[in-house]
Amino acid sequence: MCLFCKIVNQEIPSNIILEDDDFIAFHDINPKAPVHILAIPKIHVDSFNEASADLMGKMSSFIQKIAQEVNINESGYRVITNIGDNGGQEIKHLHFHVLGGAKLKWGHFSDADPKGHF
Ligand code: AMP
Repeated sequence: MCLFCKIVNQEIPSNIILEDDDFIAFHDINPKAPVHILAIPKIHVDSFNEASADLMGKMSSFIQKIAQEVNINESGYRVITNIGDNGGQEIKHLHFHVLGGAKLKWGHFSDADPKGHF
């Protein structure tokens, strides 16, 4: 069973902010911003590549509720999902990073030439 499935099953503790029938949201253990929350489906989905339109629709509403719950909906925030090796996905259970609480910088994404792919 993957780490986030264990969090869903409460075999590993987490600091849960919001939960419904389909999703949970909890604080990232290694925050990259004053607010850094992870939103995950309770069912195991490897990554965004396997996420259905139905799941993503519900996930959008859930993320909007998180932003309201922690009061960053007006000040602004960023939603990120990392996919696969090049995307930097460490945990192979679909999750969305919800980052906010301060003005976020636009990151440095790659050492490769940004104009090099197409
Ligand atoms: P990613 O690199 O997109 O797969 O992100 C995985 C995230 O999970 C990282 O930001 C980690 O800090 C976070 N993380 C790993 N283990 C835990 C845990 N037990 N509780 C909360 N967050 C975790």
